[in-house]
Amino acid sequence: MLKFLKSKKGFTLVELLVVVVIIGILVAIAIPVYNDITHSTKKRACEANIRMIKSAIQQYKVANPNANSVTMDNLKGYFEDNKIECPFGVAYTIDENGQVDEDAHKEDAHKHE
Ligand SMILES: [Zn+2]
Repeated sequence: MLKFLKSKKGFTLVELLVVVVIIGILVAIAIPVYNDITHSTKKRACEANIRMIKSAIQQYKVANPNANSVTMDNLKGYFEDNKIECPFGVAYTIDENGQVDEDAHKEDAHKHE
């Protein structure tokens, strides 16, 4: 072992190339995995946001029994910092039936990042 450390002989060009190629392969594998994880994390955050909006709609209806419509503006006070944002940048909207427009946050709708 000591002998190996004392050796002045460095790596050959081929050995260096092999190391560089191996690192390149590892990076090529890691990047798509990282992107998948990032995407699925954002998707779950959006799903959690939709559940929070649904809950806020219910709370708003209880607090304002005479209101005949609900908008995202009405719900501001129910969220931290008065806002709730989709991690993909798609706005949350409430349809004429007072429900969150979930179609805008399905898998396909989120792809245009
Ligand atoms: Zn979303």
